[in-house]
Amino acid sequence: VARRVAQVGQQIRADYGDRTPVLVANLKGAFIFLADLCRAMGGPLSIDFMATASYAGSTKSSGAVRIVKDLKMDIEGRDILIVEDIVDTGYTIRYLMEYLELRKPDSVKICTLLNKKEARKIEVPVDYECFTIPDRFVVGYGLDFDEKYRELPYIGEIVS
Ligand code: 5GP
Repeated sequence: VARRVAQVGQQIRADYGDRTPVLVANLKGAFIFLADLCRAMGGPLSIDFMATASYAGSTKSSGAVRIVKDLKMDIEGRDILIVEDIVDTGYTIRYLMEYLELRKPDSVKICTLLNKKEARKIEVPVDYECFTIPDRFVVGYGLDFDEKYRELPYIGEIVS
């Protein structure tokens, strides 16, 4: 994970050059990825947070997305990089993209730690990803099951 996050961080910095992107992390699952990614990228950059409702004890996506915490920054004219833990069905990221576009940023790109391509229900443009994974429920490195396991220093599968 560390090696891949470092590579992707450097790739993103190379693409943005000396521009100052706003990394918008989707809480809570992306918090550890964001911490490592922003240090791998290096500055200049800004950080803000949003929170969308998660599965609340279930391992299945409902398709309904709800904003729990909104941005603090004015992002008009800025380059936005959405930092996600997992793109699964695509509903969350699609919703976030449309929501952020309303605030008239210059650009919106997506960076995800994990990409569950086979679980996709709607198409979304993933610009950067660390790993493609199969359609299994994973925890650790920020990701939870019912608010547990976020602290694990690795990504593991829940086997029931
Ligand atoms: P989507 O809207 O793309 O279906 O789901 C995205 C969100 O669902 C992610 O941000 C994450 O919070 C949650 N999610 C999807 N798959 C998993 C998984 O395997 N493990 C965990 N912990 N969360 C997941």
